[in-house]
Amino acid sequence: MEHKIRVYSDSVLRRKAEAVKKIDDEIISLLNEMKDIMYTHNGIGLAAEQIGVLKKLVVIDLRKDGNNDLIQLINPEIIESEGIYEEHEEGCLSVPGYYDVIKNRKKGVKVKYIDIDGNERTIETDDFLSVVLQHEIDHLNGILFVDRLSPVKKAFFRKEWRKLQKERKTAE
Ligand SMILES: [Zn+2]
Repeated sequence: MEHKIRVYSDSVLRRKAEAVKKIDDEIISLLNEMKDIMYTHNGIGLAAEQIGVLKKLVVIDLRKDGNNDLIQLINPEIIESEGIYEEHEEGCLSVPGYYDVIKNRKKGVKVKYIDIDGNERTIETDDFLSVVLQHEIDHLNGILFVDRLSPVKKAFFRKEWRKLQKERKTAE
């Protein structure tokens, strides 16, 4: 079983993921494969949708100070949120080469999830991890960060994206 990163505008990125009912070998090997793919592509987060698997699975590693700090989340869900995060730039392994500022992210979130050992856990954060969690949980609902751009910026994105694709084709 080998999965590849799905890239905009693959329709799988628009679908909703299903909750995981049982943590079996398949789920564990998926989470580990997602972790490997994330590291290979130097990402800080990856949702299962991004490799074409419609299950509520997310891996995150901000690698602060060069340390690995892997979080593997099953069925993550935002249960509380507050405030507005200061402006910041986001990117996405499914929208390679494009970065932009999203203005409506929440500052603080409380997320509940199940870890790889089946324990129910919560994360409460109001730093950058909060933004990454919101970005990844959006994926599970079929939402990409570029969907959260203003109409003007969306038009700019589409133009830039066409340009990026042309450059990629020329480079091939
Ligand atoms: Zn993403």
